Amino acid sequence: MIFRCKNCGGNVVYSPEHKKMYCPYCDSLDSEERSEGNENIGQPDSHGKSNFVCPSCGGEFILDKFTSATRCPYCDNYIIVGERTSGKYTPKTIIPFQIGKEAVKKSIRDNFKKYKFAPTDFLSEARLETMEGHYVPFWFYDYDSNYKFRGEGTKLRSWRSGDTEYTETSYYDIVRDMNIGFDAIPADASVKMPDEVMDLMEPYGYEQLEAFKPEYMSGFMAEEYNMESDLIKSRADMKLRRDADSIIKSTYSGYSSVHTTQNNLTVKNENASFGLLPVWKYDYTYNDMSYPFYVNGQTGKIVGTVPLSKKKIWSYAATWWGVLTALMVVINLIITWSHT
Ligand SMILES: [Zn+2]
Ligand SMILES: [Zn+2]
Repeated sequence: MIFRCKNCGGNVVYSPEHKKMYCPYCDSLDSEERSEGNENIGQPDSHGKSNFVCPSCGGEFILDKFTSATRCPYCDNYIIVGERTSGKYTPKTIIPFQIGKEAVKKSIRDNFKKYKFAPTDFLSEARLETMEGHYVPFWFYDYDSNYKFRGEGTKLRSWRSGDTEYTETSYYDIVRDMNIGFDAIPADASVKMPDEVMDLMEPYGYEQLEAFKPEYMSGFMAEEYNMESDLIKSRADMKLRRDADSIIKSTYSGYSSVHTTQNNLTVKNENASFGLLPVWKYDYTYNDMSYPFYVNGQTGKIVGTVPLSKKKIWSYAATWWGVLTALMVVINLIITWSHT
């Protein structure tokens, strides 16, 4: 499937800047026409890669195992693979990209221009332009739960009379029986996307989850889910436990200590739905090492490892500090920045 412009025939994409479909060839807004074309996915090889014939230009290229939207290397049009975005692979919800490529480039430049050790082309227009927006597949879990909590809380009161110090300990029964509902606890369903990166990408503002439309995918890469929902549910269960504990904790305060005697969390109802979240990915390679940078496509938060140029470090260190200091400052730190 491809979205074409009614006015000029160009490939229409979703524009985060306009919050509309946009034709970059003739500047039209909402001029799209959906064209299904003839999609032909070949037999997958042992890695799940298939030959794919571009429905727009007929060029043949390799489609990775889970890829559901991509850009044709011959005609540059963005293709949405119908077979991989329909049936059980139809996403229910999506947070469309809120931040466009130009804004992301600017943010990366602003954040990293102070890193004098970074290789010269790290912030070059040519390299930054290779960045692509990816929709990462997620399972969202809703839970209805009941939490029965019992604990013994103590409160201490001390006073002094003459030479003697007195302490009085009072004991309190803390009893909570709460029904707690959770909406959309996320767990990423992409094998390629490292879990720790996705954890650092959070939080997303789930109030912007919308009903899925294929239009939002035009202009971006995407994957169908790589794993069934029950396979990764344990990750969401852990978050459920953590959040439920902190909700219970927030209902009691002022005790010197709390000894838990019962904490039963039971899930009464649960439901999983498939959705997509936006991530910009800048694949920077330097000396055969890859330094992927990820930018939350909704909030602009950046997660990545700063590459460093050995040559640059040496020349910089020779003029300024000891090498050791320089290395300690920049070597391979995983960092997160808040854009806003
Ligand atoms: Zn056009
Ligand atoms: Zn093509």
